[in-house]
Amino acid sequence: MVVVDLSKLRNFQERDLLQLSLGQQIEAVPRDIAGVVAKIASERSAIETAKAEWIGLEAKKKTLETEIKSAEGQVAKYRTQQLEVRKNDEYRALTHEIETVEATIDSYEEEELKILYAIDEAKKRFVEAEAVLKGNISGHEARIAALGLRLTELEKENAAAVAALEQARAEVPETQLRLYERLARSPGRPVCVAVHHSRCDGCHMKVSANVEFEARKGENITTCDQCGRIVYWQL
Ligand SMILES: [Zn+2]
Repeated sequence: MVVVDLSKLRNFQERDLLQLSLGQQIEAVPRDIAGVVAKIASERSAIETAKAEWIGLEAKKKTLETEIKSAEGQVAKYRTQQLEVRKNDEYRALTHEIETVEATIDSYEEEELKILYAIDEAKKRFVEAEAVLKGNISGHEARIAALGLRLTELEKENAAAVAALEQARAEVPETQLRLYERLARSPGRPVCVAVHHSRCDGCHMKVSANVEFEARKGENITTCDQCGRIVYWQL
């Protein structure tokens, strides 16, 4: 009885899986960096938003102050006119004008109070947003630097893994390699798995008694009757 030797294939698979995992880790690094960069951008943008809000409110306040000053000028003008009028109805008309403008001034002042309150709130948000970035920025930058170093390391590891993979590939019998490559596409890696307690380690389904028997015998390449992966016997 000749037992089929899967050791080269299993060795190749081990390296294949390692290289695949390294490739995925390498791909993840730029995404992770982009995530940190986006976080910094969003923290900066929170500062800019709060600042713009604050500046906008200050401008509103200034406009209102100008309006109030001009209305007060108007009132003063009416009062001077009152000193000069001789008729009662003219005097009363001016009093009415003064009251109207003063009511407007009141509403302006009320509005100004609201704006002053809003300015305080905007300032607070601005200071808080600045504190968030200030508190996080060195962490963010350290993370980006660490990710950069990790990428360099991973690329080094990957280059070694690719070389090892190619070396291992050359040792695998051609028929096994072809089967491996087909199964790697579908159902997918791992391709060569153990069957124990009657279950396939790839799909975790119960294999037929015949598959189990054949795997145990090991005379031929046996595949799982559920998923098609190459199976080998394991206690
Ligand atoms: Zn299976």
